[in-house]
Amino acid sequence: MLPLHSKFFIMNIPKSSFPRIVIIGGGFAGIALAKKLSKQEVQVVLLDKHNYHTFQPLLYQVSTGGLEPDSIAYPIRKVLQDFPNFYFRLAKVSEIDTEKNTIQSNIGALKFDYLVVASGSKTNYFGNKSIEDNSMEMKTIPQSLNLRSLILENFEEALLTSDLNRRNALMSFVIVGAGPTGVELAGALAEIKKGILPKDYPDLDTRLAQINLVQSGDTILKTMSPNASKKAEDFLEQLGVNVWKNVRVTSYDGTTVTTDSDLTFESETVVWAAGVKGAAIKGLDAEQFVSRGNRILVNEFNQVKGIDNIFAIGDVAQMESESVPHGHPMMAQPAIQQGKLLGDNILKLLDKKPMTPFVYKDRGSMATIGRNKAVVDLPNFKFQGVFAWFVWMFVHLFSLVGFRNRTVVFINWVYNYIRFDREARLIIRPYKKKLKS
Ligand SMILES: Cc1cc2nc3c(=O)[nH]c(=O)nc-3n(C[C@H](O)[C@H](O)[C@H](O)COP(=O)(O)OP(=O)(O)OC[C@H]3O[C@@H](n4cnc5c(N)ncnc54)[C@H](O)[C@@H]3O)c2cc1C
Repeated sequence: MLPLHSKFFIMNIPKSSFPRIVIIGGGFAGIALAKKLSKQEVQVVLLDKHNYHTFQPLLYQVSTGGLEPDSIAYPIRKVLQDFPNFYFRLAKVSEIDTEKNTIQSNIGALKFDYLVVASGSKTNYFGNKSIEDNSMEMKTIPQSLNLRSLILENFEEALLTSDLNRRNALMSFVIVGAGPTGVELAGALAEIKKGILPKDYPDLDTRLAQINLVQSGDTILKTMSPNASKKAEDFLEQLGVNVWKNVRVTSYDGTTVTTDSDLTFESETVVWAAGVKGAAIKGLDAEQFVSRGNRILVNEFNQVKGIDNIFAIGDVAQMESESVPHGHPMMAQPAIQQGKLLGDNILKLLDKKPMTPFVYKDRGSMATIGRNKAVVDLPNFKFQGVFAWFVWMFVHLFSLVGFRNRTVVFINWVYNYIRFDREARLIIRPYKKKLKS
């Protein structure tokens, strides 16, 4: 290991008389925090392995050709370019040294006065190697582009093969997990099947394409109201999606999906949307973690258990209380709210004032199933259908970072609505499934 005082290892960040706050992750939580701290008497260093912020709720639209990837990504440097004392470094953090108050990354080590882990979450396969090796995930833009390429490549191959079983497997999709991601992806694929495939592949019987949504429990969208869940299922059925409930996928060898029932699927495209776990970083002690979801245990101020100057926020943090024994949902709102409050709390800490405990304000949840089909649960008002779909679009549009992205997405959506189209169905970066097991 190279010494800390080596020029390379200080990441070209000047010494400052202000306390240095290092934030790992420029997602919803990290950006909200950095913005809060940006005009204060602190030095903020934001580290992220990507140089852009990803708006994950719209990844499924990238996978299904509805949006270009650039319209849901935003350069982190641009978000904070006008703020003094702010430094961004493109770096993948590998370890935290809680004794030396240092982080290690692929571009070196850095000392901190305060550290905030905002590294989000990653796909959880619950130890199932065959599924991990052979299925697709959709947590990042590159992964969404892989999925987009695979879907389109499969149709190109289906057109050419004379093997009927293979053709069916190429045109069959299995989405595991009927949370918002699984439901939205299934709905989008069903719309492609109905509106686009017959025009793009007139010489292929695209009616044979199957979209299967598999859920281990007995409800879809289980975090939403029973009405929303029921209506979403109706919408999916109207679109021709096969919804399989109380079925647990047990393995996938790249072609055959097996389940805990007699049901099997032959499919070349399986998307795993059945679980996430905290993207925690090495260096914290075992008792600072919740083993099941790999999230970091924090107190009501987002302070990591037993350490005063290290915090965790967003998906990676688990703040347990009587009302939320398993922590807050891994969603954008808790991440943003925790980021904002922690900004205030760090300033209070520096002023030696008492910090404010975090209280989550649940603003509701929503999911879209397709054109004119969405479900919205607000705290005092629950509705479904066309109005819900417009509300969904409005909320997502205004949650995007950057005026350009909002404009581009708006124009795309209007165009897609009028033309019944999804023009970003391009194989720009061919993807080949690697069969590892
Ligand atoms: C497909 C999909 C759909 C979703 N839909 C919704 C929705 O409709 N509504 C909703 O509320 N939520 C939704 N979510 C969840 C929501 O996106 C997350 O809850 C939210 O992004 C959490 O914010 P975060 O800041 O904790 O993490 P993230 O936004 O994931 O940000 C984490 C950041 O940390 C960086 N990072 C990770 N590890 C390292 C490392 N070692 N070194 C450096 N950088 C690192 C990553 O590059 C990333 O930029 C969805 C998620 C997905 C994947």
